[in-house]
Amino acid sequence: MRIGNLAVAGGLLLLVAGCWGGEEKQARHAGEQAAVGEQTSRPPAKPPPPRKIDCDRVKCVSLTFDDGPGPHTARLLDTLKAGGVRATFFMLGEVVQEHAGVVRRMALEGHEVANHTWSHPDLTGLSPKEVRSQIERTQKAIRNASGVEPALMRPPYGATNDEVGRTVGMPQILWSVDTKDWQFRSVSRDTKVGITKPERGGIVLYHDVHKESVDSIPKVVEGLKKRGFTLVTVTEMFRGEQLKPRETYTEAPVEAEPLSASPTPGSPTGTAPEPTPTGTSPTGTSPTGTSPNPGQ
Ligand SMILES: [Zn+2]
Repeated sequence: MRIGNLAVAGGLLLLVAGCWGGEEKQARHAGEQAAVGEQTSRPPAKPPPPRKIDCDRVKCVSLTFDDGPGPHTARLLDTLKAGGVRATFFMLGEVVQEHAGVVRRMALEGHEVANHTWSHPDLTGLSPKEVRSQIERTQKAIRNASGVEPALMRPPYGATNDEVGRTVGMPQILWSVDTKDWQFRSVSRDTKVGITKPERGGIVLYHDVHKESVDSIPKVVEGLKKRGFTLVTVTEMFRGEQLKPRETYTEAPVEAEPLSASPTPGSPTGTAPEPTPTGTSPTGTSPTGTSPNPGQ
C-alpha cells in the first residue's frame, strides 16, 4: 500500500474547510455525517503500516468483508477494535463515497482497504475497457476516502480468467472459507462456521452489508482467538511473499509443522462440504470463470 499524497492533501483541505466553513454549512452536513458515523474530529495523520507478525511462527487467519461499506460497517469496526484485530475490506467503489468517513477510519485503524470493483459485475462478461474502468474508478474512490491506494482486489463471485487477470493487473484474492453468510443470514450459523472452519493461513469470506454477519463477529473473533489464531490482514498474512499481479490466491502457504498438521481434537475440519447447491470454494491458483453466485 502506498499513501496517496494528493488524497491526503485533499483531506487536509477538507478539514480546513470544515473549520472555516461556517455553521450553516456544518448544520447542512450534520445529518449526513451522523448517518454514516463520519469522523469530524482531527484524525491521526496517516494509517499505521502492516504489523510485523511472523505467520510462519504464529497461527494466522484473515477475516475479509465484501460488498461494503454499509450501514453496519462502523459497528464492525468497533468490534474489531475491541478485539484488537485487523481485517481486510473488499469494497465496492459505488458505495465508498457515501461512507467515506467509515472508510477513512478503517484505514486509520490498520485494516486493509481493497478493491471489489465499482458495481459488482461478473468481470468475465465485460470488455477489457470496462474491466479497467471498474477497477480504476474504485481505486480512486478508496484513495480519495482513505488516503490509501489498495494493493489487492477480489473479483465479484470469484469469477475471473486469464484475460481479466491481465487487465486487472493486481493480485486477486479469493478465499478458503466461504461462510455463505449472504445466503443463510443466520447469526448462529455465521458464528459457528466462522469459528470452526478456518485453518491456518485461511482467508474467510463474510459480507459486512448484512446485519447478521456483523452480529456474529464478536463471537467469531473470540472463538478464533481461543483456537489460537492471530487475526491479520491479507497483506500481513502473506508478508514475505511477493503477491503477483494477475495471480489468484485462496490462502497463505503454511510450512508443514506439527502445530498445523491436524486440526485440534474435537474441532470439525475445514473440509466438510456445505449443504448447499453452490459447491465448494474455489481452490488452486487459477480458477477459470467460477460460476457466479448471487451474493458474493
Ligand atoms: Zn461481492
